[in-house]
Amino acid sequence: MSRLDLSTASAARRFMDTKVAQRQVNKVLHSFPSPRFWRATQHTPLDVRTLSATGAVQAAPSCELYVALPFCLTTEPSQCGYCLFPTEEYRRADQLDVYLDYLAREGELYRDRWRALQPVSIFIGGGTPNLLKVEQYPRLLGLIHDLLPNLRAGTPITLEGIPQLFSRDKLAVMREHGVTRISMGAQQLNLELSLLSGRKQKPQHVVQAVAWAQELGLGCNVDLIFGWPQQTLAHLERDIRDLMATGVEHITHYELNVGGVTDFALHRRHELPSPELTREMYHLARELLLAGGYGQLTPYDFQKGDGTDFVYEECRRSFDAHDVWGWGYAAISDFPDHWRAQGGHTFMNARTLTGYYAALDAGTLPVEVGFAREAADMRLSSLFRNLQSLHVDRASYRANFGRDVLDEFPGIWQAAQDLGFVTVDDHAIHLTPEGAYRVPLLQTALMQGRVEELTEAHIAHLKGAPPTAVNAATP
Ligand code: SF4
Repeated sequence: MSRLDLSTASAARRFMDTKVAQRQVNKVLHSFPSPRFWRATQHTPLDVRTLSATGAVQAAPSCELYVALPFCLTTEPSQCGYCLFPTEEYRRADQLDVYLDYLAREGELYRDRWRALQPVSIFIGGGTPNLLKVEQYPRLLGLIHDLLPNLRAGTPITLEGIPQLFSRDKLAVMREHGVTRISMGAQQLNLELSLLSGRKQKPQHVVQAVAWAQELGLGCNVDLIFGWPQQTLAHLERDIRDLMATGVEHITHYELNVGGVTDFALHRRHELPSPELTREMYHLARELLLAGGYGQLTPYDFQKGDGTDFVYEECRRSFDAHDVWGWGYAAISDFPDHWRAQGGHTFMNARTLTGYYAALDAGTLPVEVGFAREAADMRLSSLFRNLQSLHVDRASYRANFGRDVLDEFPGIWQAAQDLGFVTVDDHAIHLTPEGAYRVPLLQTALMQGRVEELTEAHIAHLKGAPPTAVNAATP
């Protein structure tokens, strides 16, 4: 099969020109490759992060922990009309108690690996973690602190949720038990647009939750989505201005990812803003936020002040190895090994609650699929996360991978310069404002060759060919 060759600037430019007028099909990718290439595996993080004879864990120099809660309120249309994450329908509070029991059982299997762990940040995501009742937060936070006895005081712990489920009592108990920050998926403040998702959320819920967080000394992020069905520039400007008026310190403003068998993909495509209007929305929001005193940290994250203390779970400012431990339903773990000249491994836990519970009932870790990264995959995965920081540090790339990132993709960087997406100096590749918007396109070009190889291997696997090096997570 012939492959696209993007090694020259003219070929890369032709490739990008065919895509530049399209909607940015996928939200920016945070690692490589996509889970569609991952396979069932018998291996687990315990095979990758082993204990030495002295009881030390052979791990990357830094790490973070992701804790997942699977449940969401039901909506009509389902999954808020657009969401592609695996979730489970919430019906009763005792579902959460049962889930916490199983989360504890999974954590117990990691106890010796996590004893000395000092994550730089912890993110409790989902699903909708603020479905928990007031009395369930001490248990959840207690599990974390019990398994991480060496957690540094003040480690950022973020808990995600939807606006109408943040009560003052919940926020107070979260704060008391170590949560430092909340992240609220508002998506739209405009009531009419918000109702398209089937959520029963009002703008006052967002304003009130931000005020309570401020009163209690909790950090606060609010997510907004642009490129939403029926959305206009006027809607977007109103939402950004109203949100800034709350004084919230952090705003994440990202593009709607339309796909799968969601209501928006099946029934509202014709209501989506055009690609050109969506691009205008990105730049208008960015200008409003910068004028409002927010600094830009990633293509989609804006924070008051310099944001140097912000640890974003999917953004890196260097290529140094960093582990991610995933805990819970559908949680993803990520273990780079490039500091010892190998690729790395990534795993995803069971994406059904029955699968998650069944594995733990059998006394095993609930890993469902995994992928053994080759060195080229590891470089791409690290590069994708570093693109989040708006700069690619050439010296750090060289120190970690023994080559200049400019030499690795010369045609693509040259075409990106010609299109005004990046500027290059001796130290770094810098994304321009347009380049920040075009990160998904840059990623598509950067991964094109490797995706073609993986696709061929995947098809061969489906046809029953013997496994190759790209097939499964094999420590
Ligand atoms: S609440 Fe969030 S995680 Fe749950 S379905 Fe809606 S968008 Fe997805």
